[in-house]
Amino acid sequence: MKKRIHREFVLVALTSIFLTAVLVTAVFYGCFRAEIMEELGNSARMLESIGVSAALEKPGGAYDSLKIQGIRITLIGSDGSVLYDNGAEAGDLDNHGDRPEVASARESSSGQAVRRSDTLDKNAFYYAVRLSDGSILRVARESSSMWGIFRDSLPAVLTMAAGVLLLCCGLAARAARTLMRPIWQLAEDLDACDDRLVYQELQPFVRRIRQQHEDLMGTVRLRQEFTANVSHELKTPLTAISGYAELIEHHMAREEDVGRFGGEIHRSAVRLLRMIDDIIRLSELDVMETESPVLERVPLYELAEVSVDMLRINGEKHGVKLFLHGAPCIIRGNKEMVEEVLYNLCDNAIRYNREGGSVFVTAEPKGDRVRLCVEDTGIGIPEEHAERVFERFYRVDKSRSKATGGTGLGLAIVKHIAARHHAELTLESREGEGTRITLWFDRWDEP
Ligand code: ATP
Ligand code: MG
Repeated sequence: MKKRIHREFVLVALTSIFLTAVLVTAVFYGCFRAEIMEELGNSARMLESIGVSAALEKPGGAYDSLKIQGIRITLIGSDGSVLYDNGAEAGDLDNHGDRPEVASARESSSGQAVRRSDTLDKNAFYYAVRLSDGSILRVARESSSMWGIFRDSLPAVLTMAAGVLLLCCGLAARAARTLMRPIWQLAEDLDACDDRLVYQELQPFVRRIRQQHEDLMGTVRLRQEFTANVSHELKTPLTAISGYAELIEHHMAREEDVGRFGGEIHRSAVRLLRMIDDIIRLSELDVMETESPVLERVPLYELAEVSVDMLRINGEKHGVKLFLHGAPCIIRGNKEMVEEVLYNLCDNAIRYNREGGSVFVTAEPKGDRVRLCVEDTGIGIPEEHAERVFERFYRVDKSRSKATGGTGLGLAIVKHIAARHHAELTLESREGEGTRITLWFDRWDEP
């Protein structure tokens, strides 16, 4: 990048110097030429007024003195033959009638022309006037050509180019530094970068990078917490299993206790398996996070019916009745995920209920969305916990949740799935009265 800035600066500078030099030379040459012609014209008219024939009679007079000034004077007869020339013997010169300046003077009283001289950097300027007797008076002089002027100005142009080049290198280095410094600093340390160096155009980039970095750190922290939690949660049932098994192994358990210990071992093992299932499920959802799930046509009401029927027996065990309300409704969703949501919500509604309580499941179309609501008449969630129950491993009442085999992952999974469906998720709860969890899915519109 630095090199490119340098290159571009130098290129722009050199091109503009060159173009300026050419342009200035051209303009200057135009003026220069007009000036010379005017000067020659004046000389010609002056000579005309003095009287040309006098010169012819008196070689070495006024004409010769003009020669000293570098002006060549030629008198050409009306037939084109050279009558006089202050630079050469008139007899040596060929017929001048076809010279453009002579021809045009003959036609329109005056004419001018510029011709390349023998040397490249000189031009010959001619100005001719027609005299009253039909002969032509021509004055001429040599002067720098455009190339000559350009060549003369070349040292100055080159010196200027060198100066500008140096200046450009300095400026380019400065520009590159200003452009790159915040980026270098950011690369070294995102937070330590001096915000005053971050220029306006870079700000969105810096903001985005910092946001991503923060998100990444957040995710890393969550994962670490999760791993720590998992290890901790796995330890409890494993300790129980190991303890009871050890007692049995060393015949330290009384005959009548063996059955109970076996039961404890079984319960802990089931709990472990459930937990591992949930963890695997969550990590699957994490992995899939980058790719959105295929959202297909899912008949929510029918799905809720199946889930409710399936959990009814489980509810009866807890003395809880399940009811389904609503109307057939189709959502844009992923069937397995929606089943998981239904299962987890109903499972909680039964588990954290009271003897003789009820669970109401509602699935119905509402406007252009579909509402899924699971409501119970259970113990409710104290307000201070309501925010956190969707966190992984979070349980309000650890002892009760554990007694019922909960690991605190169910609602985390629900929240994850809701996000994947872009479904709004709300929780309303009153301690001792009940809980209502609502999800708003997108309605399936026939394509
Ligand atoms: P898991 O669902 O993984 O088996 P869990 O039920 O303990 O375990 P979540 O479903 O995530 O975990 O619920 C988190 C906590 O929120 C529960 O432990 C419980 O304290 C509280 N909770 C969830 N649903 C209800 C409810 N319907 N009524 C009262 N409390 C609830
Ligand atoms: Mg649960």
